[in-house]
Amino acid sequence: MFLKTLPKTFKSSGFRLSVWYSAFFITSSALLLIVAYFFLSSALKAQDWDAILSELNELVSEYEKGGLTLVESEVVEYNKFHRKNPFFIRIAENSNRTVHIFFPHLWDEFDLNRIETFSLSDNKAWISLPTNEDDYDLVIKSARLPDGRWLQVGMSTEDRQKILERFRETFLIIMLPLILFGLVGGSFLAVRTLRPIRDIIQTVQSIEIGRMEARVQRTNTGDELDELARLFNEMLDKISTLISGMKGSLDNVAHDLRTPMTRLRNISETALQAGQDLDLYREALADCIEESDHILNMLTILMDISEAETGMLSLDRKFVNISSLLARVVDMYQYVAEEKGVKLNVSAPDELYTTVDPNRLSQALANILDNAIKYTLSGGQVKIEAFQEKGELIIRINDTGFGISPKDLPQIWDRLFRTDHSRSQKGLGLGLSLVEAIILAHNGRVDVISDPGKGSTFTIFLPSIQ
Ligand code: ADP
Repeated sequence: MFLKTLPKTFKSSGFRLSVWYSAFFITSSALLLIVAYFFLSSALKAQDWDAILSELNELVSEYEKGGLTLVESEVVEYNKFHRKNPFFIRIAENSNRTVHIFFPHLWDEFDLNRIETFSLSDNKAWISLPTNEDDYDLVIKSARLPDGRWLQVGMSTEDRQKILERFRETFLIIMLPLILFGLVGGSFLAVRTLRPIRDIIQTVQSIEIGRMEARVQRTNTGDELDELARLFNEMLDKISTLISGMKGSLDNVAHDLRTPMTRLRNISETALQAGQDLDLYREALADCIEESDHILNMLTILMDISEAETGMLSLDRKFVNISSLLARVVDMYQYVAEEKGVKLNVSAPDELYTTVDPNRLSQALANILDNAIKYTLSGGQVKIEAFQEKGELIIRINDTGFGISPKDLPQIWDRLFRTDHSRSQKGLGLGLSLVEAIILAHNGRVDVISDPGKGSTFTIFLPSIQ
């Protein structure tokens, strides 16, 4: 409920990410400083305690050697050189009544009478006496002397507290720029991290307004977001190919349907105008059927080409013997070839297997073979061979026909392209487009070499899949 009422900026992933980055940075910096503070505080405390203990041990051994007089001369000597950090030294009776306190004027801020109220039975314990203002302490350690008295050495925590106070002030001074740095750094990182996502959003927006060529800018870092951008661009490329394929098909269909449709209309119109002649009607209807078949055939091939080119052609792949498949296709054309006086010659090993859609491959081979016979004069020859080479299955169809001029050669794969030479022959100019599309759908390739006047060789390369 609360989230819904927030302005859009606060709900954005960028804002949330920068808050997370900043919070993490600021918290970890603060934690680091706090840990450093505690380390410093305990190191200073340990240092003070060590100093007190060593002074206490030294004075106990002095007392053992020369009594209070030797301790006094030792303390006076010490205070001459350590005016700034004097030790608090006290001698007390077993009952904790004060016998002597050295330089009591140095400890005016403490109520020294209170020391007599502390219990001395546990000489391992540390006594802590706060100042009258309670701003720092006098920490004291006691040791039992051989004559039953107590020797106490102490030290004020004032210096230690001042150092720690300075640290706390510095902590606050450092934290301010650190917070600023964390906020700026967090926003910067969030902006950088989300840049590819924003690019994708922008690209989608551009596509929405009709700019189909828009693509996401790659960072080429190879990270997940770059991979997402690559896949997104690939998807757009595929969609563009699909759209332009559909558009191309539509243009071709519209263009090429016009002639047979006009012809259909003319036949019907002429028949109607001719009066009641039944034979004429019959002839007109037969012509209409022929034209309709022609249109249907063209539409089917165009649909097949579009599907294959856009990767939508569903192939029913099977592990087949290509030699048998070739034999069946050649068989179909044997009669036509004989009629035309063209010799068909097949050479392929008995066992030549790969995985293909047998119907589609037969369709492609039939188209090439049909052309080879169609564009070869009587007395000519068409040679078909199939073999395996370097992991590929190769099917080669060579004819001794007209050949194709170098100028036309690159265009023969285009939809509805026909050379001037072939005008006299029946055809739609779609056969080779379909061949290329089918072979590409099989992840193969097809190429042609031709010598005008001598003949052409079409070669299909298919992956040898076991
Ligand atoms: P078509 O229906 O015209 O045969 P294709 O797409 O099959 O359409 O072929 C395109 C053009 O390529 C043909 O019109 C023809 O001019 C040329 N062509 C194809 N195969 C051969 C060949 N074996 N010999 C000579 N020309 C050929």
